Amino acid sequence: MTPNLLEVVDLHTRYGRVEALNGVSITVPQGHIVSVIGANGAGKTTLMNSIMGVLPSQGQLRYAGHDIQNMSLETRVQQGICLVPERRDLFASMTVADNLMLGAYSRRSKPWKADLEDVYRRFPRLLERRAQLAGTLSGGEQQMLAIGRALMAKPKLLLLDEPSLGLAPLIVRDILLMVKHLRDEGLTVLLVEQNARASLAISDEAYVLETGQVKMSGPAAELARNEELSASYLGG
Ligand code: ATP
Repeated sequence: MTPNLLEVVDLHTRYGRVEALNGVSITVPQGHIVSVIGANGAGKTTLMNSIMGVLPSQGQLRYAGHDIQNMSLETRVQQGICLVPERRDLFASMTVADNLMLGAYSRRSKPWKADLEDVYRRFPRLLERRAQLAGTLSGGEQQMLAIGRALMAKPKLLLLDEPSLGLAPLIVRDILLMVKHLRDEGLTVLLVEQNARASLAISDEAYVLETGQVKMSGPAAELARNEELSASYLGG
């Protein structure tokens, strides 16, 4: 059986009095893409931020067999967890190349030159535009840069929060295909997507989050055929 890289057990996250996650449990097997789908406000971003340690939470977080609940954000990054946030967080007034180099900043193991070449090989568009300021890239290029920068940190677990947000359908397809290739090369991915049908198509397992709780879960292919889910999240 595939070992789990991440196990989230009975996770609770609050914003003051608002309980945004109310006992969420998910497992992410090594080398799989697991997607989390759900309506606006379901708690998807909160889940990602809680796993990363950007937000404090209660409950168990086990990563690669270790309890990471008390680990700092920096240590989680060094252990190989990397979040590409919904708003991408690029340095707009820095070049593409400098943004990528910053991705390697947290790494203990250098050199990173081969990794930079690897990112440029995956995203030829970034190579073409390496001297361009990140803030002047198109939305799709910015998402490529955000993923490329995450890859520079040599992650074992990539947390991708709404990579297709605001992008045209063809670009969404390219980005999700890239995520699938990364999985095929061994990366483990937890993917949050509004674009439920497209994300189920590349995922191994999926969870449906509703008001801070897991409403449904299972193999992605089964959920894609589920009628109830289809009516509410997959556009019929
Ligand atoms: P979306 O798809 O719209 O990004 P989401 O599923 O990612 O939604 P979250 O952003 O995790 O949802 O929000 C979950 C709940 O927590 C929502 O009810 C939201 O209003 C609330 N929430 C999120 N951030 C804060 C905050 N900083 N302060 C107070 N409440 C918050």
